[in-house]
Amino acid sequence: MNIILLGPPGAGKGTQSAGLVERHGMRQLSTGDMLRAAVKAETPVGLEAKAVMDRGELVSDAIVSALIDDNLAAMDAQTGAIFDGYPRTAAQADDLDRILARHGRSLDHVIELEVDVDALVERITGRFSCANCGALYHDTANPPAKPGVCDTCGSTEFKRRPDDNEETVRTRMEEYRAKTAPILPGYEARGIVTRVDGMASIDDVAGAIDAILA
Ligand code: ADP
Ligand code: ADP
Ligand code: ZN
Repeated sequence: MNIILLGPPGAGKGTQSAGLVERHGMRQLSTGDMLRAAVKAETPVGLEAKAVMDRGELVSDAIVSALIDDNLAAMDAQTGAIFDGYPRTAAQADDLDRILARHGRSLDHVIELEVDVDALVERITGRFSCANCGALYHDTANPPAKPGVCDTCGSTEFKRRPDDNEETVRTRMEEYRAKTAPILPGYEARGIVTRVDGMASIDDVAGAIDAILA
């Protein structure tokens, strides 16, 4: 099973990917996470991507498609892939078709998380994650059960993304509207798009996604 989780920044793609990994043993391929790892490690890709990400603009198609290709090459053929935050442009969507074919895979579902634009800024400015295991939280909607302690690993260190500020979020939302949303009709024509109400609770969204995959 190979699926794309599509939706604007803050829609819940990372949160739902983590649930799918846990429930179904799938693998999450998040280009955002890969790029942040490259920035942290100061690789050539990271050095090139950092300023672009800080502005909330899109990193080049060639860079992100190469990251996806490399990660899929390292995966076992039986493990399902969740594409989280990729593809984000028409060129990336074309790249993905070619990359999947090369690895003997095909797309089963494109799941669009539909959310209120007004809710996104609130979701993103309240987002934080565990510095140790990466578990995702939200100040009000999804805080750790015990304040200051990660539910998953017990760490007390948390971090916030430098691009999770209101100004950058506006640019990221505009990039989504202008460059990413236009890839949906192509997938719709292939009959593989399902919409899910991303404003529902995290558990209800997970249930709706599981119903699509069943
Ligand atoms: P979010 O989860 O809020 O949608 P991501 O973590 O997916 O954000 O992406 C963070 C940033 O990384 C983006 O704003 C962009 O600069 C860069 N990025 C991630 N994935 C891609 C992609 N597929 N194409 C171009 N840029 C990307
Ligand atoms: P994306 O990967 O699409 O950018 P995230 O999964 O990182 O989105 O979610 C953004 C923020 O919203 C996080 O702080 C997360 O805890 C919170 N969140 C995710 N799903 C929901 C939901 N269904 N209801 C309320 N808050 C949510
Ligand atoms: Zn943790």
